[in-house]
Amino acid sequence: SESIVRTEDLWVEYPISRGLFKSVKIYAVNGVTIDIKKGEIVGVIGESGSGKTTLGKAILKLVDITQGKIYWGDKDVSRWSNRKLRKLRRYYQMIQQDPYSSLDSRMKIYDIIAEGLRVNKLVHSKEEEREIIYNALKDVKLNPPEVFFDKLPTELSGGQRQRVVIARAIVMKPKFIVADEPISMLDASTRGQVLEIIRNIKNETGTSFMFITHDIALGSYISERLAVMYTGTLVEIAGSEDIIKKPLHPYTQALIEAVPKANPEAGIPKVNIKGEQEPLFEKPKGCVFYDRCPFAMNVCKEKIPSLKDMGNNHYVACHLY
Ligand code: SF4
Repeated sequence: SESIVRTEDLWVEYPISRGLFKSVKIYAVNGVTIDIKKGEIVGVIGESGSGKTTLGKAILKLVDITQGKIYWGDKDVSRWSNRKLRKLRRYYQMIQQDPYSSLDSRMKIYDIIAEGLRVNKLVHSKEEEREIIYNALKDVKLNPPEVFFDKLPTELSGGQRQRVVIARAIVMKPKFIVADEPISMLDASTRGQVLEIIRNIKNETGTSFMFITHDIALGSYISERLAVMYTGTLVEIAGSEDIIKKPLHPYTQALIEAVPKANPEAGIPKVNIKGEQEPLFEKPKGCVFYDRCPFAMNVCKEKIPSLKDMGNNHYVACHLY
């Protein structure tokens, strides 16, 4: 079916300053090719430092890319300016991790949700605006909606705020939403509700999502497909069930082994996946998992493994295959 967003060999580098005069580059996204279909949730799994957030922002054209292509629908927007993107932006939204910093604390909930509608001239009367906002609050289960109209973000819990963030996104009738760890800062009691809301939006409107998370169990619960990232590289992508039952990349295998009882019989050599992933200061020449891989071979150091089609829509980037 049709792609909502797609990248081709996408690279993102950014400079950081280190020491007094030294400027160093970080290779944050390294040659990622991925596509997300209409009405699909793709989970992007990675630890901190894996480049998953940078990938999401790059797809939304919120950070500069070094190389490669980004398509929104069938349009190659890789080199489009902000000005040229303006009309399409409403269809490509982001839900950030932190619901405390993403809402203007001086604005009422009603105005927060109405702002995008007004800026984009999507409403023609006060009544129409009110109805859209009422329904959006209802869709994110903030009931009764009118009670929330005049509240300030500071009067809301984290879970309620995140639902306002989602309401603000959905009134724009988005085609694609990057949800970046949207429940990681919420109380356990409200996490399930927010996941349900995301699933309902997908089912009812056909909006596609990139669901970014460090938690492979959560990712497989909410997503149809899972994409696994390691230091800026997409190492494996497949249907969620397929990846959980038959992980092919040594890193994915280690991730799944770390989840209690997810894969009891796998018998996979121990890989230390604890700790931060080291940022890459040089363009990778071989496999990014080389230093930690129990199966590493000479070729792994010298040649970047490309994504190999293993059938059944399962792709892996590893020289073992
Ligand atoms: Fe390990 Fe080599 Fe596969 Fe990389 S390419 S994951 S080093 S076997």
